[in-house]
Amino acid sequence: MSKFNSDNFIENYSFYHKVIYVFAILSVVLNIFIQKDLPTNTLIVICLILAFFLVADSIMYYLEYFGSYTFFTMFRYVELLVFSVIQGLVDKSSILLAVLLILVAFVAVEFVLQGSDYDVNSMHQKKYALILPMFLSIVIAYDQTSEAAWFTYFVMEFMLFMVVYIIVNWFAKLHSVHIKQVNDMSLEMSQVETNNAKLLEYQERVKTINEQINYQKFELAHANKVLEQVNIEVNSQTDVMRYMTSTFDILKCINVLTDAIMEVKNPKFCAIYVDKNVYMNALGSCIIKTNYSSMQRRLKKEIESIFESVSSGKGNPEILYDDEVKQFKFIGDANINAMSVMPFVDNNKVYGMMLVGSDDKEFFSNGLGYYENCIVEFNVAVNRTKLYLKMQDMARKDGLTGIYNRIYFNELFEKALSDAKRRKKPISVALFDIDKFKNVNDTYGHIAGDKVIQMVASMGQKYADMYSGFTCRYGGEEFLLVLPDYDEEKALAVVEELHNEIKSTPVTYNDIEISVNVCIGLTSYPSLCDDTKILVSRADKAMYYGKKNGRGRLIVDNPSIDYEE
Ligand code: GH3
Ligand code: MG
Ligand code: MG
Repeated sequence: MSKFNSDNFIENYSFYHKVIYVFAILSVVLNIFIQKDLPTNTLIVICLILAFFLVADSIMYYLEYFGSYTFFTMFRYVELLVFSVIQGLVDKSSILLAVLLILVAFVAVEFVLQGSDYDVNSMHQKKYALILPMFLSIVIAYDQTSEAAWFTYFVMEFMLFMVVYIIVNWFAKLHSVHIKQVNDMSLEMSQVETNNAKLLEYQERVKTINEQINYQKFELAHANKVLEQVNIEVNSQTDVMRYMTSTFDILKCINVLTDAIMEVKNPKFCAIYVDKNVYMNALGSCIIKTNYSSMQRRLKKEIESIFESVSSGKGNPEILYDDEVKQFKFIGDANINAMSVMPFVDNNKVYGMMLVGSDDKEFFSNGLGYYENCIVEFNVAVNRTKLYLKMQDMARKDGLTGIYNRIYFNELFEKALSDAKRRKKPISVALFDIDKFKNVNDTYGHIAGDKVIQMVASMGQKYADMYSGFTCRYGGEEFLLVLPDYDEEKALAVVEELHNEIKSTPVTYNDIEISVNVCIGLTSYPSLCDDTKILVSRADKAMYYGKKNGRGRLIVDNPSIDYEE
């Protein structure tokens, strides 16, 4: 019965109602003893009726009207009818009537208000139900009393009806306002609830979006990491490329490249091999970078045989895993699970290779792009170097004989002289000129003459190579042989050997054997000539001395060559 309890007005009303009952009972009791306008038995019955309704009303109140408004309405209406009848019966000038009037008014109000469960429409309908008890009371009173008193009673009843009518209307109005407020509040509440639901939905959406953002953040971080790596790789490639374009030293290029790969990719090993005679290198070039020192030793031994099998392949890069890797002896028990073999190809010929290995099987999962770009750069560097070295060689060497020309000789000679001076070592110089060469040209033609020049030049080169010296074509059919660290005695032995070999090597041209002889002038620093600036001219003088004294001679620098002029 929360509605009743919560409504103070009704609660107080019920209390006053009971007080009126008590008053009414007291009035009846008073009537029994003092006024006696009704027979005592009737008054006792009235008193009992009142007491019954007081008790019934209280019981009903505490038992919460047995949970039924219909029952309560019926009860109140019966109560109203009973009190109206009693009211019609009592003396119209007694206090009891006044008390009953008030009681009826209370019961009537209760009947209309509480019995309607405060429903405004029901209240308005119920107030008309009051006409019946009022009419009953008036009719009963008509028989019981004088006309004047009855009329007064009629007016009083009418006023009672009006009072009830006004109270009901007032309450209905008050209640409508209250209902409206409650409605407004519940509307507000439902709006708040709707808003709350929307808020929850937004929250959920925000949560989902946040989750998506977090995921995207994660993806972005990953992409960023990939980009950073790409950036590092691009920078490294740029550095490698910059270095490679700034040098013609292929071995250094290989070093820089392997270092860059070790730094950027961090494999367990990286090795580059370039075959011999690729960039005028007499031997194969090999650089191996790894932390496993024993592996480095093993790979150095095995790398040429690996290259042999790679060079006989199609020249495509390959990635090997697990057992395929372990088949290479140099791997040993190192933890290498993935290895790439990348051949260097130029003009459809494999000229070198790169080996990269890692313990991580997924090491090459992003492809070999970085390495292939590096290899392309390296290819360019090798081709540039080859071209440069070729040009340099052409500039240094004589076209007919293939030995150094006079310009490059001067460069080498200057270095050799300062080296000899610095190291306080001897150095010997021999100049040789073909005897009667004009005759060869005139007799056999210039081509035969060329062949003779080529033979003598090759002898000079042979002895230069044999005795760690250098030679050059100094003029048309004049040659120089320089022997660093050789004193006159040692040099004489070498030059004599050279002279003998030239003499005993005829040149065959058109089935004709052309015998060749040369005149040689030899000088030596510091024993024969202590002025390095005139060493060549001393050798020349000695040679001319030989020409003038019979040709085919080997003359060692001595003072007499000066007097012969
Ligand atoms: P000698 O030295 O014994 O006094 O006599 P020679 O006949 O050798 O005389 P000289 O040194 O004056 O002759 C050099 C000749 O070599 C002149 C030139 O025509 C010839 N000659 C120079 N260069 C070449 C060349 O590249 N090919 C040929 N076939 N002949 C050359
Ligand atoms: Mg000559
Ligand atoms: Mg000459």
